[in-house]
Order: sequence, then C-alpha cells, then structure tokens
Amino acid sequence: MDNKTIFQKIIEKEIPSDIIFEDELCIVIKDINPQAPLHLLIIPKKPIPKLSEASKEDLKILGHLMLIVGNMSRKFDVDDAFNVIINNGEKAGQTVFHLHLHLLAGNNKLNLPK
Ligand code: 5GP
Repeated sequence: MDNKTIFQKIIEKEIPSDIIFEDELCIVIKDINPQAPLHLLIIPKKPIPKLSEASKEDLKILGHLMLIVGNMSRKFDVDDAFNVIINNGEKAGQTVFHLHLHLLAGNNKLNLPK
C-alpha cells in the first residue's frame, strides 16, 4: 500500500508540480486550486503530519518555514499584505496530512477577522 501523501510524492518528484523554490528543508509550490491571486504552499521536506504533532526537534524547520514565507513575500512583492494559514486537523479543513503553510496575497476570498 502507498501511504505517501501527495506532498511527499511532489517532494520526491514522483508527480510534477510548479516548484517555486526548494532547499534542504522545504519546497514551495503553487497551490493547484488557488484561493487568492498568489497562493503558495510552503512544505517541509520532513513529513510532519500536522502542526500539533511537531516537536522540539522540529524547531529549526518551523522557524525556517516562517523565514521562507517572508522571503517569498518579498520575491512576489506582496510583503506589505499577506495571510499565512495553517489548517490543523480535518475539522479545521486540513486535507493533506503533511504540514504546510498557505501564503495568500492579493484580492483573496478569505474573510479573516480584522
Ligand atoms: P489543506 O486543506 O490541507 O490545508 O491544504 C491542502 C492544499 O493542497 C489545498 O489548498 C489544495 O488545493 C492543495 N493541493 C492538493 N493537491 C495538490 C497538488 O497535487 N498540487 C498542488 N500544487 N496543490 C495541491
């Protein structure tokens, strides 16, 4: 049985995707179903299923992901206004159980609290 998530298959290049950036700890891809003009997914290479399962040993990875968000916001010239979302758990809308950060910017459809 194949237990790999879709993101694991993307990381291992088993399936193609629009890779924006890659380093030893993470990849950044465009979301296949964008909810904003810019919708990127920042994905650690380590298959942490969800944020609530991250541990102290993941400190470097978690910090790295946040810095990559900042880098991407500057790369795409949206550093003045963007949202970062992490869905944790099925009831919160998580569909892929490999931790990922959504970076959304532009005229997005989100109705977040002001
Ligand atoms: P979640 O709902 O788990 O927070 O987010 C999963 C995201 O992954 C969704 O926004 C969905 O559109 C995106 N996604 C699912 N499958 C693929 C895929 O094969 N390629 C890309 N680029 N994004 C995907």
